[in-house]
Amino acid sequence: MQKCNENAANRYSYVGEVYTIGERAKKQEILASLPREWRELHEKGFIHIHDLDAYGLTYNCLTFDILRDFPYERLIGMSQTRKIIATFEYLKNLFCDIGNEQSGGMALANFDNDLGEILTKLGIEQDTLSEEIIKDCIHQLIHWCNHTHTRMGQTSYYVTLNIGLAKTEFARFLAQALIREFRESGDLVFKPNIIFKVKAGVNRFEGDPNYDLLTAALLCSAEKMIPTYVLCDSIPNQGVDPEKLAIMGCRTRVVADLYGENSSIGRGNIDNISINLPRLALLTEQEMIGASFEEKMRAFSGKWDEIAGITKDILLDRFHKVCHRNGEDFPINQKHHLWKEDFTDIPSVFRHGTLSLGFIGLSEAMEVLSGKRFYEDAACYLAAVGFVKHMRDYSDFLRNQYQLNFSLLATSGELISGRFIELDEKEFATDADIFEKGFYTNSFHVNVDSNLPTFDKIRLEGVFHELCNGGCITYAELGEAPLGNDEGLKEYIECAVENGVHYLGFNFPKDVCRVCGASGVFDSCPVCQSSEITRIRRVSGYLEILDGFTKGKKNEEKHRRAN
Ligand SMILES: [Zn+2]
Repeated sequence: MQKCNENAANRYSYVGEVYTIGERAKKQEILASLPREWRELHEKGFIHIHDLDAYGLTYNCLTFDILRDFPYERLIGMSQTRKIIATFEYLKNLFCDIGNEQSGGMALANFDNDLGEILTKLGIEQDTLSEEIIKDCIHQLIHWCNHTHTRMGQTSYYVTLNIGLAKTEFARFLAQALIREFRESGDLVFKPNIIFKVKAGVNRFEGDPNYDLLTAALLCSAEKMIPTYVLCDSIPNQGVDPEKLAIMGCRTRVVADLYGENSSIGRGNIDNISINLPRLALLTEQEMIGASFEEKMRAFSGKWDEIAGITKDILLDRFHKVCHRNGEDFPINQKHHLWKEDFTDIPSVFRHGTLSLGFIGLSEAMEVLSGKRFYEDAACYLAAVGFVKHMRDYSDFLRNQYQLNFSLLATSGELISGRFIELDEKEFATDADIFEKGFYTNSFHVNVDSNLPTFDKIRLEGVFHELCNGGCITYAELGEAPLGNDEGLKEYIECAVENGVHYLGFNFPKDVCRVCGASGVFDSCPVCQSSEITRIRRVSGYLEILDGFTKGKKNEEKHRRAN
C-alpha cells in the first residue's frame, strides 16, 4: 500500500506506524477539547495549528545553549581521542533525546566557535592527530543526521548548525572541516542543515579573516544548495550581536526578547499558527463583487483582523498550557540546561520563547482581490506590503498587550500549501486561476513560475524581511547547479544585503542517478542511460527526496521556474 506521507522526512517503520496512529488519535483528542469555534477554524482551513499533537504538551524548537552546562567533568581522565569522540557523542545524544522532547528543530548558534571552545577547555591541542579524529567525527555526525530515522520511529532529526564567525584557528578548522566533509559526502547526503553567517569584517569581503570560509561555503552551496546564508549586515539584523544570532533550518527566527537581550541562544519558538490568506480573499471577493480594489483590501484586512484575534487566543491558550507542565515533563532539558533558564520554574523558561502568527499565500490572495500578481503591478505591490505591515503591527500590539514575544512568521507550509488549497477548492466552486496549480505560494514569495530575474526577486521580497521578525527566507531559484560560480553567488548576497534580505538560500533542481551517481537535471541519466533517478528538492527549509514530498509541495515543484 502506498503510504500517505504527511512529512517529507519520514521513512516507514513499524514503530512509526504505531506512532502515527497515536499521533492521529492525539490530534483528534486535542481538537475535541478545544472550543468549537477554534476547532472549526482549523478543520475548515481558515487556520492551521502546527504540530497539533504537541498542543499544550511541549514547545516547538530550540537553539541550544551548549556552553552553559557542558559536562567537562565527565570527560576528565579520558585520552585526547576519547574526549573528542565523547564530545561528538554527547551532541548526538542531545539531538536524539531533545528531538523526542519537543516537536520541531534543534540548532547550534556557533558550531565552530562553541565546539572550538569546548575542545580547547578539554585540553585538546590542534595537531595532525586531533584534526584527523575531528574530521572523522564530523563525517559521522553528517551521516548520522542524514541516515538516522529514529525520531518517533520514522523521522530524521531536524538539526541546524550555524557557522562562519570562527574566531580562533581551531574554530576555523571546525568550520572548514564541516563544509568540506559535507561537500564531499555525496549528492544523496543533504543533512544536517548548515547556515553560514555573513558579516563584514569577518568573512564578507576579500581581506576579511574568514573570507576563505565564505568562498568554501558558496562552492558547497553551488553543488548542494546547503549552506543557506544569514546576512548579519542586513537592516533587520543590525543591532543584533552576530554571535547571538541563529536561524532554525525551517526559517524560524527568535531574536528580540522582552525578558533579556536580543539573542537566539537558549530560546526557541513555543507555538505557531498559520492563517490561510487566499481563503479570506476568496470570501471577500464573493461578498464584494463589483467593489473597488481598495474597498476589497479593507474588507480583506478586516476579515484577517477577526481571524487573527481568535488565533491569538489559541496561541495564548497553548502557551499557558505548556507553562503548566512540570520540569519532570522535560527531563532532558531539565538535566542539560539548554534553555536560558532552569526548568524549576517553567513559565520563566518559556516566556523567552516566541508565539508566531504565520501566513501563507499572499500572492494568491492578492491575485484574487486585484486580478493581478502583486509583483507585476505597483499599486498591488504597495497594497501587499501595507497588508504585511498591518499583520506585523498587530503582532507588535499583542507583544505589548500580553508581554509575550509574539512574532510574525512567513510560513513555508509544507503540509498546508496543499491542504488549504484543497479545502478552498471544495468550498469555492469557482474556476479561479489560483486553483490550477494545486498549491499556495509560501509566505510572501513571488510565484515560483514568475520568471523574474533573481536580482528583481531579491529586491521585491527584501522589504518583507524587516516585517517578518518571526522568520522568513528568500530563495534565488536557479535553473541548474551554479557549479564553481562563487563569484556569481556573492553578487546575489550583496544584492540581498542591500535590499534588506536577512536570510537567503539558493535553490536549483538536482537529479541524481542511482546507478552511476551522475547528477544534474535529467529524466534519464546522460552517462549510463538509467531511468532510476532520485530527485532532491528543498521543502520547508530542508532538502528532501521528492518521493517523500507532500502533494502540495510536489505540485509546487512542478511549477518552479528559474529566476
Ligand atoms: Zn547513471
